[in-house]
Amino acid sequence: MFPPSTFPAYPGGGQARIPLQIIGAGPAGMGLVLALCNRIAAAEGKAVQEQRVLDALQIFEASGSPGGKMGHYRVNANTSAHDVVQGIKDGTPFVGVRDDYLQHPQTQSELIPLPRIQTLMVEPLVQAMGEFLGERLHCRVDIARIEINENGIASYDRENHLGALSANILFCCGAIETPLPELSPLQDRWEGSMQFLKRDNLDVLQDTNDPIVIVGASHSAFSCAWRLLFDPLFSEFARERDIVILQRRERIKLRCSTSFAAEHQVDYDPQTDVCPRTGLVFFNGGLRKDAKFLYLDIRDGVENRVRIVEMDQLVEQQDLLNQAGLVLQATGFDARLPPIVKQGAPVRVGNPTRNGELRNLDDGEIIAGLFGMGLGLNILPAGEPRGEQSFNGGIHGFQSYPLAIAPRIIDKILASMPMEVSN
Ligand SMILES: Cc1cc2nc3c(=O)[nH]c(=O)nc-3n(C[C@H](O)[C@H](O)[C@H](O)COP(=O)(O)OP(=O)(O)OC[C@H]3O[C@@H](n4cnc5c(N)ncnc54)[C@H](O)[C@@H]3O)c2cc1C
Repeated sequence: MFPPSTFPAYPGGGQARIPLQIIGAGPAGMGLVLALCNRIAAAEGKAVQEQRVLDALQIFEASGSPGGKMGHYRVNANTSAHDVVQGIKDGTPFVGVRDDYLQHPQTQSELIPLPRIQTLMVEPLVQAMGEFLGERLHCRVDIARIEINENGIASYDRENHLGALSANILFCCGAIETPLPELSPLQDRWEGSMQFLKRDNLDVLQDTNDPIVIVGASHSAFSCAWRLLFDPLFSEFARERDIVILQRRERIKLRCSTSFAAEHQVDYDPQTDVCPRTGLVFFNGGLRKDAKFLYLDIRDGVENRVRIVEMDQLVEQQDLLNQAGLVLQATGFDARLPPIVKQGAPVRVGNPTRNGELRNLDDGEIIAGLFGMGLGLNILPAGEPRGEQSFNGGIHGFQSYPLAIAPRIIDKILASMPMEVSN
């Protein structure tokens, strides 16, 4: 959709570096742009620093167009249609996308599938984003390495062309799933939940009668089980196979109202497990929608095609794993970051602060100018978006990036910028 990039010339000598470059234009990368635009629109001409960041911004996206992976998951959305567009505020260049989306009859349905959100919202947003950013958005540019030195932070593609030199960089590169050590010998039968939830064919899946084992009891795990049972793509493949969810011994949380919790005997602590903003139990940490109802049906014996097996350690289940024809891992995500070299030495980064600052994983120090958000980089926001007190994971989604996480990253970047000198 967008032409391949033409790179700006390397400015050299640390001059003319831009305030910010973003790697990855999925929901997280676009969320930062939305947050900047929200702020500029609200400030009515007074957000001078934000405007400077936006005007100079360069975004690099490896695929042919922005948008990321969200719409490729073949499951229902977790968030209501109205929530999905909360991140687009009045007065921004994207407000038309929001208003058109809300007028669409399908958005009245709570269980709108993610691929429909992709068509109705993400694609128009991508189009508007491309028009708005123009040459600042570089598609088909896979950033292969990052170099940090006294001049700033430089990104390079696979042909070693310089992408941009900046004072700050935001990684929004999405996530990968790597096999747990106990599962790595089963590589030929292993698949990550992300890949499985995106499948639109049965390609390379072994069609046997051997058990299907899902490791983890996360939202993604129950979403995988839901697809096996209810998606027509798997009706032959999963028929009459033993489907087992292996769950570590801990309670399974459900996002629900307090009355739903009472009616369905959902155990929770009213002090720590209820979100003060929404009044919902396990607002951030609980299973949602299809995954939630599937869990209840399994628990209540209504759905017998899936068994939940509690375990302390995966090795206890070695026999079952050895028999399995397919092992789906749904135990969380790792960030997919390009290799980073600082002052000539490779550095491993991650473990973001609440403000999205990335740390050196070896010494725990924050590395100045390095930020990250999105799937694989869990950020527990402060204030209202934190949800229930007991929640200690990271929040993700179209709504949370521009509203809860990107504003804090922008604050940090602005605080580090020299003030504009006016004549
Ligand atoms: C089962 C499931 C259900 C979900 N349901 C919802 C929901 O209902 N509502 C919701 O809002 N969210 C939902 N999400 C979350 C949503 O999928 C994620 O929040 C979102 O996709 C993550 O966006 P991202 O930008 O971090 O990553 P991605 O979508 O993976 O985007 C990353 C982008 O970075 C690019 N990239 C990567 N590396 C490089 C590089 N080196 N150089 C250049 N570009 C690069 C990639 O090409 C990609 O476009 C769900 C997630 C799952 C797994």
